[in-house]
Amino acid sequence: MSTESADQNIQREVMEADVVIVGGGAAGLSAAISLMDQIAAHNERVNSGKSNEAVIQDPMVIVLEKASEVGAHSFSGAVLDPCALKELIPDYVEKGCPLETPVSEEAVYYLAKKKHFKLPVVPPPFRNEGNFTISLSKFNRWLASIAESKGVNIFPGFVAVEALYDEQDNVIGVQTGDKGRDKDGKPKENFEPGLIIKSKVTIFAEGTRGSLFKHVATRLNLYEGKNPDVYEEGVKEIIQMPKGTVKAGQVIHTLGFPLSKSIGGTFIYTLPEDRIVVGLVGYLDTRDPLFDPHKELQRLKTHPFIYKMIEGGQVVAYGGKTLPAGGWYSMPRLYHGGMLVCGDSASMVDVQKLKGIHLAMKSGMLAAETAIAALAAGDYSRGFLYSYEQKVHASYIKKQLYRVRNFHQTLGIGIFESMPLIALQEITGGRGLTDKMAATVDRSHTEPLVEVWGAEGANSEDALLPKPDGKLFFDKLSSVYLTGTQHDENSPNHLKVSDTSVCSDVCYEKFHSPCNHFCPANVYEMVPVVGDEEKKRLQVNYTNCIHCQTCDLKCPFDNIDWTAPEGGGGPQYTET
Ligand code: SF4
Repeated sequence: MSTESADQNIQREVMEADVVIVGGGAAGLSAAISLMDQIAAHNERVNSGKSNEAVIQDPMVIVLEKASEVGAHSFSGAVLDPCALKELIPDYVEKGCPLETPVSEEAVYYLAKKKHFKLPVVPPPFRNEGNFTISLSKFNRWLASIAESKGVNIFPGFVAVEALYDEQDNVIGVQTGDKGRDKDGKPKENFEPGLIIKSKVTIFAEGTRGSLFKHVATRLNLYEGKNPDVYEEGVKEIIQMPKGTVKAGQVIHTLGFPLSKSIGGTFIYTLPEDRIVVGLVGYLDTRDPLFDPHKELQRLKTHPFIYKMIEGGQVVAYGGKTLPAGGWYSMPRLYHGGMLVCGDSASMVDVQKLKGIHLAMKSGMLAAETAIAALAAGDYSRGFLYSYEQKVHASYIKKQLYRVRNFHQTLGIGIFESMPLIALQEITGGRGLTDKMAATVDRSHTEPLVEVWGAEGANSEDALLPKPDGKLFFDKLSSVYLTGTQHDENSPNHLKVSDTSVCSDVCYEKFHSPCNHFCPANVYEMVPVVGDEEKKRLQVNYTNCIHCQTCDLKCPFDNIDWTAPEGGGGPQYTET
């Protein structure tokens, strides 16, 4: 058995599992629920003589979730297409699924600086008939309760930090992170060594930019022949409005203001109990080194059209996250000996519709189908697990992603410039003029400050944050407070900056430190060097981190490695 860097001197408890699922989000929990259902159905077939295969006795299915509880790190828009939910839990209404409200009205607007224009018809990708607004955090908590009722073992506060491999590089399980180390990495009194969990099948469902899966994918060459994974960054707030002022079920999308140098858009959903969600999503392949989704969200709310909707309200929740945008051509090989990958970790998001929860759920269910077949056959080889990728290709996951396979790459050239090409793609089933269109990693698109902003640079009016008022407008630090984020201050810094001299000697001058801007949680700050106020150094306020993963993707020098902190740390989302 080998790992990348496991400390061999520590005695670790070893557990055996049939299936370990890394990540307790919609993909992982759907896989877990589906596994238990299918194992029960399999055993019934065997017991009734309809199958000659072996009974699967006392299945051990483990879900590892890095948050303190399932749902605490779940963050999304979110409008749910319920197709996968209906397949997985047909009686979801009776079982108390926390759907907020059906979508009843939709509109798309273009925002100029002070004016707004309504599109005469809602373009098909923005239509949401039959869909529901949800809080992903609440939804995942509910999925976890169903999974547990079926016998799944959910371990919250456990981070999978290493994959375990056999001599042939088949994945044979994971190691979880140690708990109770101090700032310098030394064991404290409450030290608990991480576990070795050996597993017949390991399902990676870590969500966007999985911190373990990125290493697994590199080691196993899962992106060979594929586009690299590329991303968008999204932030949103929930605003509590006065009683009786909000009609639930409206979905509004806008384009234009406030984004002037980046591609993206916004979403506004109205929820029951007079709440409004206001969110903004931007492409991370932006050339703008000052791209700052938090600031853009604050600027969005100053627009007269938006301000009129939210005037008198109070922001009560905030959060941010990346979402995979590369789609079909950025989907890694989905299998290897002993492992499968699903959901956002495998770029399964329809980036035109900005929807991925149903694809995450469906892929989890297909991974479960493959895992149960592997358990029944006792075959966990790459050749056997290949059938998972075949199932994905035969499902609506491929149908939906293949249709928009060149969408992100095309829109990246500009909203108006890309329209003829996107229209052509619509007519040709996604093909367009060039198929496949290449993508390059997001960080490679960042351009020097002066080329994007000219001499005015960071002092331009567009680069300024509206004045915070503690009600509708916030600075970043006050917004972070609303996420409930916490990390033990006496624990290792999980944000590894390889060379801080690059930050002060090159990046600050050339790019004006993009990490100080794109981070939605004020983690990175260039501060004056004591004794030499002219010079700046990077300060990393790692306890603020809300786990969005942007810094791992957008540092122009690839200087930051996001590693998982001690289990349980991070945001404490309840409504997002
Ligand atoms: Fe996101 Fe990185 Fe900032 Fe954490 S430190 S909130 S992962 S950009």
